[in-house]
Order: sequence, then structure tokens, then C-alpha cells
Amino acid sequence: ADKTAAPRTRRRAAGAGAPPELSSPGKVLYPGDGYTKADVWNYYQTVMDQLLPQIAGRPLSVIRCPGGIARACFFQKHRTAGLERVATVRLKEESGGSGDYLVVEDAAGLMELVQFNTLEFHPWGAHADAPDTADRVVFDLDPGPDVPFAEVKRAAQDLRRLLARLELESFLRVSGGKGLHVVVPLNPGCDWALTRRFARGFAEALTQAEPDRFLAVASKRLRNRRIFIDCLRNGRGATAVASYSLRARPRAPVAMPIGWNELARLARPDAFTLASVPEKLRRRRRDPWEGMDRIRQDLARWADAGA
Ligand code: ATP
Ligand code: MN
Ligand code: MN
Repeated sequence: ADKTAAPRTRRRAAGAGAPPELSSPGKVLYPGDGYTKADVWNYYQTVMDQLLPQIAGRPLSVIRCPGGIARACFFQKHRTAGLERVATVRLKEESGGSGDYLVVEDAAGLMELVQFNTLEFHPWGAHADAPDTADRVVFDLDPGPDVPFAEVKRAAQDLRRLLARLELESFLRVSGGKGLHVVVPLNPGCDWALTRRFARGFAEALTQAEPDRFLAVASKRLRNRRIFIDCLRNGRGATAVASYSLRARPRAPVAMPIGWNELARLARPDAFTLASVPEKLRRRRRDPWEGMDRIRQDLARWADAGA
């Protein structure tokens, strides 16, 4: 390998494009549900057209669970040996130095990661070719244990309304865990410092206006009855789960994009699963995030307001 490679050097995968083979198809990865590695593989083949555009060309972290979700899983940020169909990009690390990050460019690369027991996909909010430019702001709503889901739904609606005042259109995703993500596309993108200032400023303003409902700092003590607006998703090197990714949790929930008009009748944030999503994709008339990447909006209006 070229040790003198400049930052951002992108290396194509040696085996790019060649479909990988599935081994150990019968291995059970979700013991409580009986879902096997073949079930996971088939799920990812089925949602490929939706998932691939969400992660392609972005630095990517993955959660791999070689022994299934009941055993140790690990969060992997960097290239490891054996991955022949996944490209890499050398990027400056937050901690100094540089590292080789994974970049999926095609279906073969994605399925190779599945063959390596990947359950979750977590892309950056930036592309590998412009790692210092955020093209998404993610408001990660994390409810404390005593917060009813109806309150989380109300918080997401409020957030949407306040963003709309800045003429920012936002999109909704159920995390597949406990909360919701409100995602704001930026086009043109924005440097990370300003993006983070925006996200944090917005969260702090909400918290100051309604301190009984919201929290902008991760405090366990204050959290129980409040919703933590987690802004840590909005920094260089930070990741958020990709839409259509499975979660490594019981029932195999999916991080699912939904329309704002679907929120009212949503009962829980882990309502969509490996078992139900393929059918939902067949039935739905349109992708609720359709057109997101064509929207032209940036943080200028917010910056002009002197925030
Ligand atoms: P929930 O709705 O349950 O909060 P979530 O996906 O929003 O689901 P969070 O715990 O709020 O989960 O966010 C964690 C995020 O932090 C993940 O989406 C992931 O991208 C990122 N992350 C960074 N490092 C790790 C790690 N070591 N393990 C897991 N996630 C990590
Ligand atoms: Mn969350
Ligand atoms: Mn969080």
C-alpha cells in the first residue's frame, strides 16, 4: 500500500463488482426470532435499491455480530483484511493521524459486508470525496425511560414546525430502537463547525423554551422524563444509522423512513422489522424521502438571523 497517500485518497476495491458468496446460511443471528444469516442476506437483497443510495460513496461504519445479537457485536470504522469488494478512503482522524475508512460503492460491496455478519450500517453525514462538508443534519430524539412515545412524536412535529420557520424542510425516520430521527438535507452542504453550531443552538433553544420536555446535554439524572436532543450525530466522523438498516436488537427492527402523515398512527419506533418491511415496500406508493437530495436549502437563513 502507498504509505505516502494524501488524505482523501480513495482506493477502489480489488474485487469490485463481483458478487460475494454467502457462507453459513443457516447460522442463527437473531436467536429469539430464529432469523438466520440467510434471512438477513435475503432482507438486504430485497431492500438493496432503497438502502444502497443511502450509504454509497459515504465513509461507513458497521455493526458486525459474528455470533448473532446475543453474543458480542462490534462497531467497525476501519478497513480490515478480507474485504475485497469494499472501497476505502484515507481520512484524517479526529484524534490525529489518518485511517482507512470503508466506502461501499455497489451491491457487491454491501453484500460482502453482510457476508461478514454486518447487521447495521452507519454512514457519515458526508461523502468520501468531501468529508468536511455535511449534507445532512440529524436531530436524534432520545426519550428517557419514562417518556411515552406520543411525546416523542409531538417533539418531532414541533421540531419540523420550527425548522420550517427557517424554510428548512425535514424528513422523518423511526430509529428501530427507542426514538425518532428528524433529518435535514443540506444542499449545498455546510462545514461541520457551522453544522454543529446550528444543531446545538437549535437544541438549546428548544430546551430553554421547554425545559420540562427537552434536554440538550446527556445527563442521566435529568433524563428520565425528558427527551434528549442528541446533537452528537452532527460532527465530522459521527455517524447515524442508515435508513433501511436492520438493528442488532430483538425482533430485527428496521430504521425506517416514514412520511410525516404516517406519524399519527405510528404506535412504536420499532414497528418495522425484517419480516414486515419487504411487504411494506411493495405496497407503498412512494418513498417518503423521495426528492430529498434535490431540495436546495442551506443554513444561510439561520446564520443571517444571527444565531
Ligand atoms: P435509539 O432510537 O434507540 O436511540 P439510535 O440509532 O438513535 O437508536 P443512539 O444510541 O441514539 O441510537 O445513537 C447512537 C449512534 O451513535 C449510532 O447511530 C451510531 O451511528 C453512533 N455510534 C458511534 N459509535 C458507536 C458505537 N461504538 N456503537 C454503537 N453506535 C455508535
Ligand atoms: Mn437515538
Ligand atoms: Mn443518541
